[in-house]
Amino acid sequence: MTERIETVVVGGGLMGSATAWQLAKRGREVTLLEQFGQLHKIGASHGTTRNFNVGYVEEHYLALVKEAGRLWRELEADADVSVLNLLGMTNHGKGVPAQHVEVLRAHGISAQWLSVDEARERWSGINFDTKILFTPDGGRLDPSTAIPAFQATTEKFGGHVRHETPVLKVAETANGQVEVVTDSVTYLADQVVVTVGGWTNKFIGGQLSYPRLYVTQEQPAHFAINNEAATWPSFNHRRIIGDPQYDYWYSDIYGMLTPGEGIKAGWHGVGIHVDPDNRSFQYEPMMMRALQRYAREYLPGVDPEQFTDISCTYTMSSDEAFILDRRGPFILGAGFSGQGAKFTPAIGRVLADFVTESKARPIPQFAAGRFIA
Ligand SMILES: Cc1cc2nc3c(=O)[nH]c(=O)nc-3n(C[C@H](O)[C@H](O)[C@H](O)COP(=O)(O)OP(=O)(O)OC[C@H]3O[C@@H](n4cnc5c(N)ncnc54)[C@H](O)[C@@H]3O)c2cc1C
Repeated sequence: MTERIETVVVGGGLMGSATAWQLAKRGREVTLLEQFGQLHKIGASHGTTRNFNVGYVEEHYLALVKEAGRLWRELEADADVSVLNLLGMTNHGKGVPAQHVEVLRAHGISAQWLSVDEARERWSGINFDTKILFTPDGGRLDPSTAIPAFQATTEKFGGHVRHETPVLKVAETANGQVEVVTDSVTYLADQVVVTVGGWTNKFIGGQLSYPRLYVTQEQPAHFAINNEAATWPSFNHRRIIGDPQYDYWYSDIYGMLTPGEGIKAGWHGVGIHVDPDNRSFQYEPMMMRALQRYAREYLPGVDPEQFTDISCTYTMSSDEAFILDRRGPFILGAGFSGQGAKFTPAIGRVLADFVTESKARPIPQFAAGRFIA
């Protein structure tokens, strides 16, 4: 059976769900197809916390995170839920750029330096090692509330959401439309939005050219809190490569409080390379021991011996920048490199623009052809 439809979105993680929400809200015909159940734990968008770090220096990320801040509130209003908690974000460590506060203030983002003593006064659970860049408009967001909210409002605005519906293939037709084949239905659509995370290379790699992508299995952990009274900001701890103080570090560290689960902390983008359909979901012991050592040295508010590991995938692009672009009937959203969640509703807006705005052009840093002269 063939069903005619304007747009099919493949992939019901954060990015596909946000795109479907944007299209349905604009009154466009859209069906979202997800191979697994709504809040499965096999991709990159599960769990109840992600950092909403506004502390970027690049123009294109600063514009996108500010827009995302507004659009998260719009989703919350549409779905009558709470997703974004602006409890403050701290960036510390020798790797924090000196001119950071000025850059943020120039973009209308509130930021200040705190001394180590001031910060320890406020947040006794963290052992800050340098002065701290504090952004009160940073915090954390909850994907496990966001995804159902995006999908419920997609349906509220007239779109359709199908779970347990793997897309077997997509193929451009002679007249420039696209066939989207599932077990039960073949959709004939004007365009398909491909937001399949770690499955991107397997799903569309043979049909589109884009910057190299690889998938890693990341292994942060929740550490048990040993002082329930302590308050916690979201945090990034940024090293200087080659500085002996950070010699056992695998990468910069990110973390936040996950209510009811403990303090999440993790290395960034250094997990083993995996096939998303053939993963161990087991953590690599050496890397976990180094994370426990980090907790011992820098998180006095937790018990480094008591932890629960998390297994999750990053889809890394070679420059860690996103791919947000259109090629014929294919619209691609990929390569979120472990930093996409905070930007989600704005990424949904960018991808939906490729459907509704004939003049839509890729943000140069996110263009699929950015490496091709
Ligand atoms: C451990 C961890 C910590 C993170 N921390 C942060 C953070 O603090 N701040 C931040 O901003 N970002 C963070 N991120 C990054 C963020 O979570 C991701 O960028 C985001 O979740 C990517 O969403 P996605 O929709 O692209 O991918 P996914 O959630 O993986 O969605 C892709 C979906 O496509 C589906 N799919 C694949 N193939 C098919 C098919 N053939 N048919 C139908 N469906 C298909 C999959 O089942 C999946 O549901 C973190 C990520 C991880 C893993």
